[in-house]
Amino acid sequence: MESKLYFLASPSTILPGCIYGQSYTVAMPRAKWSGRSEFVTVRCPVDDKNHRRAQGRRGQLDVVIPSWPTSDLSWTVYSECLLSRRALDLFRDANLSGFEAPPVGIVDIEHGGVSGTPELWELKVTGSCGPEIQRPGRWYEKPCKGCGSRTRHSAVDGVFIDRKNWDGSDFSRCSDYPHSLAVISERAKDVIVGHRLKYCVIYPVEELPMDGSKSMYAISHPSEKTIHEIG
Ligand SMILES: [Zn+2]
Repeated sequence: MESKLYFLASPSTILPGCIYGQSYTVAMPRAKWSGRSEFVTVRCPVDDKNHRRAQGRRGQLDVVIPSWPTSDLSWTVYSECLLSRRALDLFRDANLSGFEAPPVGIVDIEHGGVSGTPELWELKVTGSCGPEIQRPGRWYEKPCKGCGSRTRHSAVDGVFIDRKNWDGSDFSRCSDYPHSLAVISERAKDVIVGHRLKYCVIYPVEELPMDGSKSMYAISHPSEKTIHEIG
């Protein structure tokens, strides 16, 4: 049987179709960027008003974490995924591919005392599953000549990842989907579920209900709402 692909996301909003992590009942505070981390802003000579956007981050990730120790996986306010030593060791021991793990600078800890040495790594996804498949009902405008921005329109539900575009990495990204949404392999999913790594949610790619692209944005962006148990 062909193995499945999954989305790995932060448990800020839990939608039907979630197969792991759906029972979190308390929203976990997120790490904040310290003043040393900043966005790279894309400016557009053609239409700066509509095309200006933040794209990626400059330099190392420096954060203020809510408390220490953190869970196996934790998240920043911009949905970067942070790995604990345990999570990093499990991913490396399983030889999972498609990620780098640069160390995260921990500038401060907001609450409580500290036991042990605070250390975290950023899950930086390097694998690719290409752009999404073109389907009737979903289309992209031609990229802007000034900045490459392209507007997406969707009249159909569904996630359209083409396995033929997937490079086989255990962690990958679809270039048309939110940057903070990692696509993971069956193997990576098994490591996370098998070791009950907290704090993340997993959706089979085909089963994420899509309302245009709203669902994907909902699970990939932080929400202040409390997480309710759904099943
Ligand atoms: Zn532009």
